[in-house]
Amino acid sequence: MSEWKNALLLAGDALLYFTILAGLFRCRHRLGIGSFFCALGVMHFLETYLASIFYVALPFGIVTSPGSTVLFTGKLMLLLLVYIREDAVVVRQPIYGLLIGNLLMIGLAYAMRNHDLVSLAPGRVADFGFLGEMGALMLWGTAILFIDAILIILLYEKSRALLGGQVFLRLGLAGAAVLTFDQFAFFAGLHVLTGAGLPVLIGGWAAKMAAVSLYTILAGVYLCWFERSAKRAHDAPRISDVFDILTYRERYEDLLARSGRDALTGAFDRGHLESHGRRMIGEADEFGRPASLLLIDIDHFKGYNDRFGHAAGDAVLKRIAASIMGSVRASDCVFRFGGDEFVVVCEALGSEAALALGERIRREIASRSDIATTRVTVSVGVASIPDDARTYDLLFAEADARLYQAKAAGRNCVIGSRAVSAENPVRLAFAG
Ligand code: GH3
Ligand code: MG
Repeated sequence: MSEWKNALLLAGDALLYFTILAGLFRCRHRLGIGSFFCALGVMHFLETYLASIFYVALPFGIVTSPGSTVLFTGKLMLLLLVYIREDAVVVRQPIYGLLIGNLLMIGLAYAMRNHDLVSLAPGRVADFGFLGEMGALMLWGTAILFIDAILIILLYEKSRALLGGQVFLRLGLAGAAVLTFDQFAFFAGLHVLTGAGLPVLIGGWAAKMAAVSLYTILAGVYLCWFERSAKRAHDAPRISDVFDILTYRERYEDLLARSGRDALTGAFDRGHLESHGRRMIGEADEFGRPASLLLIDIDHFKGYNDRFGHAAGDAVLKRIAASIMGSVRASDCVFRFGGDEFVVVCEALGSEAALALGERIRREIASRSDIATTRVTVSVGVASIPDDARTYDLLFAEADARLYQAKAAGRNCVIGSRAVSAENPVRLAFAG
């Protein structure tokens, strides 16, 4: 009877764990996702403690620890939930945080063993042997957790090709596969450290599979009922659709559409330049780092529209934006300022390098025959901090003035602290 009581208690523990943490995750827009991550992180110590010493008997001769069944399995399933509802950039934070936090804890605990301790009361002494054993287990568990967390996300993503939008099934399968791997890996460490036997391996695996099933149901219910309203609330409540619309990629595309991108070119829009571009320049100045702003305008674009029509003009705008985005570094931001003008903001790029980048963009566009029916060129004005200005507004004004000079100098050229042109790509004269 006590086995069934244990099983019921474990299910209750899992329900409590999931309800509170999923509740915190649901409140992330109000509280910030940090509160959820902190709550998830503090469970780790208890998890390792339980997994090293606290085992219970379940029906069918299964022996398991709530540390593995409730806390560890729950944590992995919650990380997958974070990935589904947020994205890789967000889920990376707890994965790296847990790895580094746990390593720090082990390092500190190890260093603290060197203290000379005083006893507060007779018999109350720190158990260094147990602490050391836990530390070793934690080191092993942390390394496996890191692999597990990445693996469960990769498996979930890979299963898309096979199972499409069936999120529920994919959650369960990814969880079951990773926790099977995890059970073997963790047991190996546990066996070496504590001499735990085969029943712990098999019992632990069976219990983890039961936990995966329970968490899959809970996560499915959560996604279905508590995250739905943020999606297409106007859609008819068709179950197949509910799962379709919860996938990461759809959510990501949805987000992209609303994240300040220009619909035609995919570059960031002007509003984003005002907030993000301005902040990039402000931070660079604050930390004494160089940064550059490139203002790019298509030459005689009105004429192109008049000659080939607006639709052909739109296609050229798209290709030029793609060419610019392909020429810059991953950390640079490309904005469509409006009409046929683009702005590139580059962190940690001084005036010479920015001039070279401008020239690379100009040359690439002028030399490609697949951009437009006739040859299309751009003019570029470049300004950098700290050489040309110290604030965003002054930097923009300087780049604008240089773009004007580039147009006046015959177009298809780049002007920064000095001028570069198609005819003389090395050096014309110092501008200003
Ligand atoms: P310049 O070399 O002096 O820049 O000459 P320009 O003809 O390019 O002059 P300007 O930059 O002032 O003109 C911008 C033109 O860009 C006007 C308009 O026809 C065209 N344009 C602006 N927005 C769009 C758009 O979304 N699609 C298309 N096809 N054309 C656009
Ligand atoms: Mg133009």
